[in-house]
Amino acid sequence: MKAVIYSAYGATPVLTEVPAPACPADGVVIMVGATGVCRSDWHAWKGHDPVTLPHVGGHEFAGVVAAAGPGVTRWRPGDRVTAPFACGCGRCEFCLAGDAQVCPRQTQPGFTGPGSFAELVVVHAADANLVTLPADVSFVTAACLGCRFATAFRAVTAHGRVRPGDWLAVHGCGGVGLSAVMIGAALGARVVAVDVSAAALARARELGAEAAIGADGASADDAGADGSDADGGVAAAVAEVTGGGAHVSIDALGSPAVAAESLRCLRRRGRHVQVGLLPGGPVPLPVDLVIARELEVYGSHGMAARDYPAMMRMVTDGTLRPALLTGDVIGLEGVPQALAAMDSPGGAAGMVVAKLTG
Ligand SMILES: [Zn+2]
Ligand SMILES: [Zn+2]
Repeated sequence: MKAVIYSAYGATPVLTEVPAPACPADGVVIMVGATGVCRSDWHAWKGHDPVTLPHVGGHEFAGVVAAAGPGVTRWRPGDRVTAPFACGCGRCEFCLAGDAQVCPRQTQPGFTGPGSFAELVVVHAADANLVTLPADVSFVTAACLGCRFATAFRAVTAHGRVRPGDWLAVHGCGGVGLSAVMIGAALGARVVAVDVSAAALARARELGAEAAIGADGASADDAGADGSDADGGVAAAVAEVTGGGAHVSIDALGSPAVAAESLRCLRRRGRHVQVGLLPGGPVPLPVDLVIARELEVYGSHGMAARDYPAMMRMVTDGTLRPALLTGDVIGLEGVPQALAAMDSPGGAAGMVVAKLTG
């Protein structure tokens, strides 16, 4: 089969011919229909999130079951499916409680094993991890669901618990941030988007953000002005827009400074959700505010297959429209260039998806 191989961290990946994977007894081999190119792939390629080289990346995919192992009872060849990026073992206490996203023995295609920048990809413990893809959700659209969109959905709903009328601050308007903007707005939250990029903020507006703030704290509504309301920074700007702070604030970028800023943006009893990865290790946070304002702090690590049906229903009934987040659709041969393009920040152009079939 064809696959995009990383042979050294940061060296240009190469599309080449490799042996097809064997099917595990409890797993499936999926013929990849489409695969997203995500910043987490870039982190693995660069070596920030180490993998075993040579390596095949790719963890946001949808496709058709090509083969199922003898231990698989729920799936058969021909089924249209997708899967979360973190696949549980299906047997531990966390998996049995429905929390496969934190399974200690989780497998992650594209990280712990070969991923979906290939014609075929393996998913272990398939009965616990596959998700049915409705006929009216395309592979390209579904390729965005497995990581960024599902992570945003869980961050906004399960951790953020946003209610209609709540203020939701989203810091960082790349793929996961824009997903959070769309999901928050669809649930009736009033969304304030924060980003350094005017183009990303404009996109956030299109997807339902009511207010937009530059990373210096300047209101994007004053773009072109002299930044007169920039003196108090992002937290002051969010407090002003929201009348006292956001009910829920998400760091969708992943930086120590943004995580701390997200906490400072909250109103009393507010909830911070850390979605952006912090590969540098522990970060200082204003825990004094956590006490004084009784803030809640959550980490969100994807979403288990069990929780997908509720999200999928909102996709099929049109409440959520992840297709709007799709940017360039490329072929597998375009993946190396798409990864290299992430050397500079971006996001407003949408999620890049490689389409292989259908
Ligand atoms: Zn488990
Ligand atoms: Zn991802």
